[in-house]
Formats: sequence, C-alpha cells, structure tokens
Amino acid sequence: MTAISAGDGATTRGDGNGTGPGRGQPSRDALLIRSTLAEIEPISDQVTSYFYALLFLNNPGLRDMFPAAMDSQRDRLFGALLVAAEHIDDTLALTEYLSNLGRGHRKYGTRPEHYPALGEALMSALERYAIRAWGPETEGAWVRAYTAISQTMIDAAADDELRSPPWWNAEIVKHERRTNDVAVITLRTDQPYPFRAGQYASVETPWWPRVWRNYSFACSPRPDGLLAFHVKAIPAGWVSRALVHHARPGDVVRIGPPNGSMTVDHSSARGLVCVGGSTGIAPIKALVEDVAQHGGRRPVEVFFGANRDAELYDLDSFLDLERRLPWLSVRPVVAERATLGEPGLLPEAVRHYGPWRECEGYLSGPPQMIRKSVDALVSAGIPPERIRHDFMGTLVASGK
Ligand SMILES: Cc1cc2nc3c(=O)[nH]c(=O)nc-3n(C[C@H](O)[C@H](O)[C@H](O)COP(=O)(O)OP(=O)(O)OC[C@H]3O[C@@H](n4cnc5c(N)ncnc54)[C@H](O)[C@@H]3O)c2cc1C
Repeated sequence: MTAISAGDGATTRGDGNGTGPGRGQPSRDALLIRSTLAEIEPISDQVTSYFYALLFLNNPGLRDMFPAAMDSQRDRLFGALLVAAEHIDDTLALTEYLSNLGRGHRKYGTRPEHYPALGEALMSALERYAIRAWGPETEGAWVRAYTAISQTMIDAAADDELRSPPWWNAEIVKHERRTNDVAVITLRTDQPYPFRAGQYASVETPWWPRVWRNYSFACSPRPDGLLAFHVKAIPAGWVSRALVHHARPGDVVRIGPPNGSMTVDHSSARGLVCVGGSTGIAPIKALVEDVAQHGGRRPVEVFFGANRDAELYDLDSFLDLERRLPWLSVRPVVAERATLGEPGLLPEAVRHYGPWRECEGYLSGPPQMIRKSVDALVSAGIPPERIRHDFMGTLVASGK
C-alpha cells in the first residue's frame, strides 16, 4: 500500500530528493519542511484561506477552476501539496501520489503554466505564518520540494493526456434508494472506462460544478460497460446528498480517472479477508466479483459492518452471491440491537473469527473503522504489507 494519506503515518526514507544521511533517516530538507508544517498546523485554516485569497487575487483567471464556495473543507489542493512536501523523502510513494494528483487535476483544466502561481502563493502563505521556522535555508528546502512536486504532477498529466480524457460523461441509467440515505446508482459512460475492481474515482454532479468527490466502484468491469456506485448521503454533504436525493435516471455526471491500490493480485493463491463498513462494502463487492471472474478458487471472507440492521442495505445481494459461490462466506456485523448477523463491531468480529495468518486483508470504510480493523487483522496474523485499503473521508492520492 503506497498511497499517502493525511495522517496515515507513512514513513519517510532518506533515499529521496533531499540531503538525507541514509535510508531510515529524514533528510535536512524533510526536517525543515516538517518544522514549518508543525508551526502552521494549529492555524491551518488561516493559512489555507490566505493561500487561496492570494492565489485568486494575483491570478483571477484561476478562480473559475475551483468550486464557487470555498473553505478548507471544500478544496484540498493546498492540503495535498503540504502532505506531499511532508513526505518528500519517500520517493516511491510520493511519485505515485503526485502522479495521481497531477492526472486528477487535468479535469480542472490545470496547465503547466499554472504551477508557478501556486508555488508563489504557497511560499507566501508559509513565510507569513511559519514565522519561527522560515529563513533562507527553509525557503530553499520548500523551493526544492515544490519544484520536484510540481514537475512530477506536470509530467504525469502530460503522459496521461496521450492516453485518456480528463473525465468521462456518465448517464445515470438506474437509481435505487436502498435506505433513507443510501442509493445504489448505475451509470453508462460515453466511452469505454478502464478500471480495476477495488478502485474508486472522483465524481462531479451538475448540481455542484467543480466539486468532485470520490466514490468506489461497486462492481468489477462488466461486459456491458456499466458502472455502479453506492452513495450514502452525509448530513449537509454537498455531493452525496445531490446523488442520493436529487439524481435521477437520465442525469449526467462526470467521472474522473480511476484511482486506488486496493486491487487483488491474481498471481497469489492466498485467501482474502474483506472488511467493509457502511458503503465501504461497495468496493468489497467489486473484489468478490473480480475473484469470481478469475476462477474463484481462493477462499473469501466478507465482514459487512453497520450500526443497525436496516443499514445492511446490500446484504441480500451478498447472501445471494454466498449461495452461488462456494468459496465465499459473508458475515454481517451490527453494532446496535443486532438481529441480523453478529452483534458488535467489525474489528472484534475480525479478531474473533481469526487467525488469518495465510490471508490478505482488504478494508474499506470510515477512517476510524479502517484503523481499528487494520490493527485487528495484524493481531490476527496478517502482516501489514498484505493489507490494502484506501481511506474514505481523508486525503488520498486522488486528485482532490
Ligand atoms: C477513496 C474514497 C472512496 C470513497 N468511496 C465512497 C463510496 O463508495 N460511497 C460513499 O458514500 N462515500 C465514499 N467516499 C466519501 C465521499 O468521497 C465523500 O467524502 C462523501 O460522499 C461526502 O461528500 P459531500 O460532498 O456530500 O460532503 P462534504 O460537503 O464534503 O461534507 C459535508 C460535511 O460532512 C462532513 N463529512 C464528510 N464526510 C463525512 C463522513 N463520511 N462522515 C461524517 N461526516 C462527513 C464534512 O467534514 C463536512 O462538514 C469515499 C471517500 C474516499 C476518500
């Protein structure tokens, strides 16, 4: 799992761009960058607002590339740049992260000539707010880091331009409300959309132009080319509420390029332990279909977690798969007043049914559930390098 996500504790290695003394120790540039980040962390909202205010003041033409209403929650570019700088030594993971970010920014119309403007706003915001850390040496570290970051993004976008469009138009062909706040949405793209089971993509709706949110594919690639998403409406959520409560068949959304590393290695014969909380069960369903399409001789255990029975919105189709696929077992886990399946929380159930020493782990759901379930899988015998997930609800290598 190489995707960097904010707060995932990805380790840094001294084999990257900086002046690091060796593997395992952060470079001097990384240390200077981290001291800057530590200083601005408590006032990150102010720094973010300043960054965008300056960017738009000096470059009014760039304003149209961002959502109409902006705050630190609504646009994640600035945060993504900071995360990248923090991991500047980790060349391998950083290249993957930034390449995704660069490719993902094609859909906003980002061009190479925009990057100097972003860099200037970034430096000015840091200089203004990281008063203690800032000085010629720190500035040099940031200039080197931003130069490397922007070049990787520009190169990845240029490479992608040769191969695929910045986004695909997709018509909603079916919209099923499974609960008050969950919809299963089936879409047909205007041209073939290549992706792998377990991946996700960012989606823009006509109701919130330039606001893109990530949704996981709930199916593996199908012969008819249709895609499916499971969307849960978050209170006050812009895109999720639009998709659940307003979208109808015939509406057209835009879908960005596929992303994410929670894919199955079909050269392995190990069993799969799949843990999905809430709509995190969507990519797990795609993985089950994927294993089935590849001949399905590997045992697959699915844990489907919800707060209440009624939130097990896709249990029937999983039980149907379980009846047809002898290598699949499905265990619903319900936190409150369970009458269907196991009472309790996903990490407890995962531990309870272990050990899973010979298996691979796949997790999808809210960040807290993922963190605790990763711990449970590790304590049940799966080494961390055999566990894959893409955090929901945090910054990941997604292009926003
Ligand atoms: C890799 C990845 C895959 C994802 N896949 C799916 C998926 O398959 N199905 C799905 O429904 N969602 C999925 N998400 C979450 C999705 O991208 C959006 O974050 C979610 O739909 C909310 O977007 P919004 O525009 O409605 O809310 P926003 O307008 O972004 O947020 C509104 C408010 O709700 C808060 N908020 C945002 N998300 C949550 C949350 N999960 N719980 C509680 N409060 C929240 C925000 O902080 C904000 O205050 C995925 C996220 C990632 C990173």
